[in-house]
Amino acid sequence: MDQYFDKEEFKAMADQLSGWLAEYHAHVDKFPVLSQVSPGEILEQLPSSPPADGEKLDTIFNDFEQKILPGITHWQSPNFHAYFPANNSTPSILAEFLTAGLGVQAMKWLTSPAATELEFKVLSWLRQMLDLPGDFRGVLQDTASVSTLCALIASREKATGGQFNLSGPEGNRLRVYCSTEAHASIEKAVRIAGIGSNNLVKIPVNNHLEMEADALLSAIHDDLDNGFTPTCIVAALGTTGTCAFDPLEQIGEIARENRIWLHIDAAYAGSAMILPEFRNKVQGLEHADSFVFNPHKWLFVNFDCSALFIRDTKQFQSAFRLVPEYLQSDADDEVEDMSNFGIQLGRRFRALKLWWVIRYYGTKGLQKILREHIRYAIWFEERVKASEIFELSIPRRLTVVCFRLKIQGNDASRDADILTRELLRRINESGKVFLSHTRVQGKFVIRMVTAQTYLRREHVEKAWKIIEETGKHILNG
Ligand SMILES: *Cc1c(COP(=O)(O)O)cnc(C)c1O
Repeated sequence: MDQYFDKEEFKAMADQLSGWLAEYHAHVDKFPVLSQVSPGEILEQLPSSPPADGEKLDTIFNDFEQKILPGITHWQSPNFHAYFPANNSTPSILAEFLTAGLGVQAMKWLTSPAATELEFKVLSWLRQMLDLPGDFRGVLQDTASVSTLCALIASREKATGGQFNLSGPEGNRLRVYCSTEAHASIEKAVRIAGIGSNNLVKIPVNNHLEMEADALLSAIHDDLDNGFTPTCIVAALGTTGTCAFDPLEQIGEIARENRIWLHIDAAYAGSAMILPEFRNKVQGLEHADSFVFNPHKWLFVNFDCSALFIRDTKQFQSAFRLVPEYLQSDADDEVEDMSNFGIQLGRRFRALKLWWVIRYYGTKGLQKILREHIRYAIWFEERVKASEIFELSIPRRLTVVCFRLKIQGNDASRDADILTRELLRRINESGKVFLSHTRVQGKFVIRMVTAQTYLRREHVEKAWKIIEETGKHILNG
């Protein structure tokens, strides 16, 4: 341990780590993708109290390899098909290293002008890449959960003329709307924003799991009749379960006519808007007040990186802006401090990795990878459709394919839910691939997501082979 910066020590370990990470990424598909440890196994190996004397970096690194690595689930493995990915990529990892090295705190323009100005610029690039409305302005947050919370708080302040911030929830009858398929982060945000779960109205969905616009309209009318204040509608562009798309155009018109804030949660599917063939199908964005998507899901930027776009930045900032004496500076009238665009004061310098990724791939390179991923999902969907033992649970959306085991004949003694759950358990236990599940109309289904950065055809074929073989085993067993 050296109190002062030791250039040689730093360089030696940095070189070792870059070599290790290069090997790791080249062979990450050889690891059991889902960590095989049992609860408490990692904990047991770690000392109960901190070391009094400093240790060598080599010793710490060895312990990382021996004690920590076995408890890692390999999110960057091309055999990872669960949830949505948290992708990284070469340019992103390297930029993240630089960011850590600079150790910048990007709370104000003054505390690193480049961090604020680069964030402004790359978000303007992203806005153009996704073809979002020209008056949208972007800001980086850590996660979609927090982006949505910020949008909700801004909508709350708009609906109460800034009173909620001053007086709290007393006497407010605010209502928020989302579909029954919306992400749990919406309800969490409603709770944290002080509006309360009971004021979140969950609108039913059709059999493609898309919000019923008519039901939304009647819920709003009911609320107005009962003295509530419709405050915010959260519509999903790609739900987490099945990637369902709520009808944004109809919802947008309802929001506009009733002067309700419209927030769009496109956490995963937003990335696909860089594809003109997908973007052209997305109508109704002109009605949105805010829009979130996560470059950390399907745009190859290290977790965390969530892009929140808002239309009325004045309104938005008024919900958050609070600048004490010790944070004031002479430049305040000329510049915008990003900490006025959200909850945190301190902010990571996230724009750097986004900048590296967009420049490294270019928009064409990014489009190419996304299109390949979608083709893999189409291939997988075809296999499911042609299969004797599986059924497709809902049509594929982008890279999400939902399927389950099909019971042959009318064998009432066999339950497809139980067998499909058993199939998933065995597949994941093998460590060869990792998938997750959801429910479609109450039925247990497996989700296959083909969106990992370094995914290739062979990995998808391998996944299919394992799934099919294991499925046959279960049905015959
Ligand atoms: C993943 C996801 C979220 C949550 O994302 P975080 O960045 O982890 O908070 C929210 N909404 C949808 C639709 C998602 O798929």
